Amino acid sequence: MEHIVIVGTGPAGLTAAIYLARAGYSPLVLEGPQPGGQLTTTTEVENFPGFPEGILGSELMSNMRKQAQRFGARFQTGWVQAADLSERPFTLTLDNGGTIIAQSVIISTGASAKYMGIPGEQGNIGRGVSTCATCDGFFFRGKKIIVVGGGDSAMEEASFLTRFATDVKLVHRRDELRASKIMQERARANEKITWSLNVTPLEVVPGELGLKGLLVRDNVTGEEQLLEADGVFVAIGHTPNTKFLGGQVTMDEQGYILVEPGTSRTNVPGVFACGDVQDRSYRQAITAAGSGCMAALDCERYLEALEAEGTGHAIAEVIEA
Ligand code: NAP
Repeated sequence: MEHIVIVGTGPAGLTAAIYLARAGYSPLVLEGPQPGGQLTTTTEVENFPGFPEGILGSELMSNMRKQAQRFGARFQTGWVQAADLSERPFTLTLDNGGTIIAQSVIISTGASAKYMGIPGEQGNIGRGVSTCATCDGFFFRGKKIIVVGGGDSAMEEASFLTRFATDVKLVHRRDELRASKIMQERARANEKITWSLNVTPLEVVPGELGLKGLLVRDNVTGEEQLLEADGVFVAIGHTPNTKFLGGQVTMDEQGYILVEPGTSRTNVPGVFACGDVQDRSYRQAITAAGSGCMAALDCERYLEALEAEGTGHAIAEVIEA
């Protein structure tokens, strides 16, 4: 039986692993289909404190992994397909059919940015297509940008990107926005933002260097038009990776895990959540890492309490096993 299983290897899961390994536990970390998480899809990370010259997202994640391993965290490839959290110890079923029994579980499976699913989109990620203005906006200083979406994220990203771009065009598939009134008003008051509403994105068109733009079809006239841009920011929402939990942990209507305010504790004692899987507003590497640290400390306290009650296993026993 495992003392602690950490599901997911973004900054939240790896920070939890570093803290728990240093505390003398030997957590088992399950690496899913995208080891290192969303940061491995960005290029340079310039806003993670401690790297004045910036660091590649993949390198940052590889460093965190090494740091966790150095203190005794163990890694296993496996995607959790189902979980039984109805009684302790918990049972996790992996995609290869194997099962893992655990006294505590830290869920750090993140959230996946939604994509439009049009030609040219996936192949140009990191070459002009991005899903994170905070991460990549800086690279578009003095350039033309398109933001796709009509929700709060799109309004926020478009407003933020006007700090760098000469021209930000908001492209939305309907003529009505889903965003809250205040966010819409803020975006509409920004003179650098232009609008292309009621158009369907058809294709991200690459150029020789970077992008040519986004091909769209007008939903009223049916006319196709290439909207020129150096960058296309897709801001059409995120999907938290919580399907495997089958609703056993309390979530909001979009599937984000709800934690007790100021903690990482879910409604199931012994199950903790950190990173983007429980965060719909900040979604930064540093906030994910911070919440990973909280999950490690909450988990430690939980296991200590079990030990004190006599229902857990001492650290020494687990390390020997
Ligand atoms: P959202 O509210 O679900 O909006 C997604 C937008 O993308 C919608 O306008 C949708 O169009 C469009 N869209 C979806 N799929 C598309 C596709 N395949 N092609 C083109 N367009 C597509 O997502 P969100 O903006 O990320 O917001 C998520 C939640 O976070 C919301 O509750 C929001 O209030 C919150 N949030 C808050 C803040 C803030 O308060 N500072 C900032 C960001 C997010 P339709 O409208 O036609 O469906």
